[in-house]
Amino acid sequence: MHLATLALFFTSVANVMAATNEPCIGSGGRAGVCITTSACSSAGGVTISGACPADPANVKCCTKATCANGSAGNCRWQSDCGGTSASGLCPGPAQMKCCSSAATGFGGYSAPSFPAVGACKAVAVNGAKALVAAWPGRVRQIYCTRDCSCPGTSDHCCGKAIDFMCSDGGGVPTMSGRQLAEWAMNNRAKLNLKYVIWGQRIWNPSVDGVKSWPSWRSMKDRGDVTQNHWDHVHVSFK
Ligand SMILES: [Zn+2]
Repeated sequence: MHLATLALFFTSVANVMAATNEPCIGSGGRAGVCITTSACSSAGGVTISGACPADPANVKCCTKATCANGSAGNCRWQSDCGGTSASGLCPGPAQMKCCSSAATGFGGYSAPSFPAVGACKAVAVNGAKALVAAWPGRVRQIYCTRDCSCPGTSDHCCGKAIDFMCSDGGGVPTMSGRQLAEWAMNNRAKLNLKYVIWGQRIWNPSVDGVKSWPSWRSMKDRGDVTQNHWDHVHVSFK
């Protein structure tokens, strides 16, 4: 094996294992980002271990409790800031900013429109309405079917899955979906829940006991914020 090939091999393995620059829950339950410990400390943050799924040893969940943006300045994802966001003061990618407010800042969206029952099955439409009613303002948009035939690689192909978009845009990370995902778990009977995915973790009532999201089974890194379910909650229905 040539040296260049070998280097490429190890690079791709590392990419599979790490969800670098994606969200995590860090010290004190704060919104954090999975980055190298050296990048975190140079940005004035602190890391904890075990909060970034399948992370290599040098990638950990980094948080920064205070930053200079008013009296309540704190580092969080811009989509979750209830005040004004300032750049260049926090560890991680550009979307991790210094928020002037301590308020959660989740959601605040107009009610999404629901698909008609048809290609999207009644169990999914009803489940979507129930979740949105329970969490007003938290879901920006809903997707049900995809351009694929049933049975396919996803429950979306059969109109029996809903993506609840809960950040400011596709590909925009948020911590908001955890409560929605745990609500789906707790209302599994009412929803006819098959499984729920949030934040690179999955919960399935046929194999998992009821537990909080950080204890759900972790999934492989699929490569980006959307595919790792950091901008939407996926719910599959029976
Ligand atoms: Zn989905």
